Amino acid sequence: MMRLPPFTYLAPTSVADAARLLGEHGSEAMIVAGGTDLYPNMKRRQFEPTVLVGLGAIGELRGIRGTAKRGLTVGSTTTLTAISRHAELARHYPALATAAGLVSSPQLRNMGTIGGNVCVDTRCNYYNQSYEWRKAIGFCMKKDGDICLVAPGSSRCWAVSSSDTAPVLWSLGAQVTLASIGGERTVPIAALYRDDGIDYLAKRSDEILTEIVLPPADGWRSRYLKLRRRGSFDFPVLGVAASARFDGEVVREARIVLGAVASLPREARPAAEALIGQRLTPEVIARAADLAAGPAKPLDNTDYAHFYRKKMTRVFVARALRSLAGLPDDAGTSSRDGEVA
Ligand SMILES: Cc1cc2nc3c(=O)[nH]c(=O)nc-3n(C[C@H](O)[C@H](O)[C@H](O)COP(=O)(O)OP(=O)(O)OC[C@H]3O[C@@H](n4cnc5c(N)ncnc54)[C@H](O)[C@@H]3O)c2cc1C
Ligand code: SF4
Repeated sequence: MMRLPPFTYLAPTSVADAARLLGEHGSEAMIVAGGTDLYPNMKRRQFEPTVLVGLGAIGELRGIRGTAKRGLTVGSTTTLTAISRHAELARHYPALATAAGLVSSPQLRNMGTIGGNVCVDTRCNYYNQSYEWRKAIGFCMKKDGDICLVAPGSSRCWAVSSSDTAPVLWSLGAQVTLASIGGERTVPIAALYRDDGIDYLAKRSDEILTEIVLPPADGWRSRYLKLRRRGSFDFPVLGVAASARFDGEVVREARIVLGAVASLPREARPAAEALIGQRLTPEVIARAADLAAGPAKPLDNTDYAHFYRKKMTRVFVARALRSLAGLPDDAGTSSRDGEVA
């Protein structure tokens, strides 16, 4: 049985106190929200904080405020279950409710938060293992070692961004607010990520993600499709988030963002641009799906063969776009929100 190492747990009741505690304890401390990713990582000795700053007692971080007309603000410790069941959010930002509802299992969604999901660690078959397993193969550079076992000649880590909600939030044009003792800043979620399996977040470790700001729904439609081996419990090995705004049947604006194909969510901009000013005919969809598969460069370090995952990028983007257009999917049945392929 894997056990947690000893640590001190601090439970501030305000963001200001949490920021102060993180400032005081520096690199010894980590933030914990639901703990569904952090505690397993501590048990496997991938994270070794001696102090945890828990966000659970900070009321101001929990809940969903606003309206779809003006935009919604989602507190970072709002659970994935609450997000998947929120009526206004599910109606106007359906891809987000879908993605939250597809994370892992009901138990983890009841504990897991949107902030933790956005900041969740990158994954790799050579890393998400017990300490003894990793020791037996000589470790790797993400923790305790110095080479990459997937790409031994590489000077960087290729661990995979595996959040279900991050590509969706990116495709919706969401912003995140970060707070620390130095103050507060709000940045587009796209600016939160780095293409590096180790240093995958472009935020300091003492910065608390306090809220996620969704822009006004304003006629945007959105879809999220997830590829995984089992229908529940598994992380995505491919996620496709597609959002578009229409003028009648013509696409005015669009964003397509892929999850689990790189160390950060990967925007497929040329694919989205190919939709602008077009009706979503089968030909337009096929061309955009081809363009989206281009930047998807999965490596052989998660479930399923990487060439299969790349091939499925084209299939899933086409399915997501057909669903956005209200067309039947490729199995001849009608697509719907929340569809899991
Ligand atoms: C068996 C299993 C299956 C899973 N399947 C999926 C899946 O299918 N899809 C998926 O996306 N995830 C999956 N997860 C990962 C995890 O459960 C979710 O990502 C969850 O949303 C994490 O939220 P949390 O609140 O538990 O985060 P925590 O575990 O508390 O924290 C995760 C990370 O985020 C940081 N953090 C948390 N909150 C904040 C904040 N407000 N500000 C700054 N940093 C913060 C922590 O320091 C830590 O580094 C799975 C986990 C397990 C154990
Ligand atoms: S990609 Fe390489 S360095 Fe990164 S976790 Fe996997 S084996 Fe380790």
